[in-house]
Amino acid sequence: MLDEGTRKTMRDWIESAKKIAILTHTNPDGDAIGSSLALGLALKKRGIDTHVVIPDGLSDFLRWLPGIELSITFAYKKEKAVGVIKDADLIFCLDFNDPKRLNGVEEYLFKSNAKKILIDHHEDPVRFADFTVSETWRGSVGEMIYLLLKEVFEDDILDKDIATCLYVAIMTDTGNFNFASSYPEIFHIVGDLMKYNLEKDRIFSNVYDAFSEDRMRLLGYCLQEKMKVLPRYHAAYISITDEELKRFNHRKGDTEGIVNIPFSVKGVRFTALFVEKKDRIKISFRSRGNFPVNRIAAEHYHGGGHVNAAGGDSFLSMEETLKFFESLLPAYVKLLSEG
Ligand code: 5GP
Ligand code: MN
Repeated sequence: MLDEGTRKTMRDWIESAKKIAILTHTNPDGDAIGSSLALGLALKKRGIDTHVVIPDGLSDFLRWLPGIELSITFAYKKEKAVGVIKDADLIFCLDFNDPKRLNGVEEYLFKSNAKKILIDHHEDPVRFADFTVSETWRGSVGEMIYLLLKEVFEDDILDKDIATCLYVAIMTDTGNFNFASSYPEIFHIVGDLMKYNLEKDRIFSNVYDAFSEDRMRLLGYCLQEKMKVLPRYHAAYISITDEELKRFNHRKGDTEGIVNIPFSVKGVRFTALFVEKKDRIKISFRSRGNFPVNRIAAEHYHGGGHVNAAGGDSFLSMEETLKFFESLLPAYVKLLSEG
């Protein structure tokens, strides 16, 4: 439930807006895209000129989503994306807690005189927006958009397309309800989404049965050759170099999800994935239980995130990065052993 003040502000601002831009984070995941498109489709249905600006590459497994035609990728269509932000009188920012996560788009966000609303579930949101809705205990922003659509719009604006986008947001950000989803409301929301003829099984298949053969081979190679398990620390990590990505004809999104695979090893509660990029090593962290990977990301890798899912960057070589990572573990051995 939104409080009355939030409901009124949203309603007033949406009603007086002629053009709306929705911004989401770099390397957008299912929650970022699903939430943005759901909100975009609803606003469009209300007759408001609405676009979704994505900083960079959209993964193939999200391209089938209804409403994808509302999206503009800043990295490829900069002029159009900047135009949308410039013309907007209301800007929604979804699924990020820091404008830095916009990977260059923030410059235009700051220049804009539009009213800005942040809706997010990451910890410690930067207070850059005129209105912030922050619910850090939620598994996804998709739930927050669901509530917004149900409570801010007078009659039921949801339909099959919008429900599909929301379901993808919730399903992906909770790892198919495996984490960040142990509260009844999330299932009430999903139960309601089902009423819109949601094709739950087809959605699952569209999202998860969408790998290329190359991606499957990359995964096999990672497990066989690159996964290092450190039982003493209940930890495991995988590293992938640029050369290896090329060898497996890497496409955007191919490394998505690989960070979760080592959890299948009994006893592993902390995982990391290191992927070599042009100018840095991008690191993903995941944990089970109370181990706060966002603390590791913030303290050592200029990053952040949630308690159980976080990320950051290293500017050392891959070899030095891995050495440094292993050197950190002894300091956390107690926390890791407690699970
Ligand atoms: P992923 O590992 O899927 O890239 O990111 C998992 C989560 O970690 C994201 O939802 C985001 O909250 C956070 N995250 C990833 N990379 C960064 C980063 O460079 N900076 C910050 N602040 N958070 C990040
Ligand atoms: Mn999210």
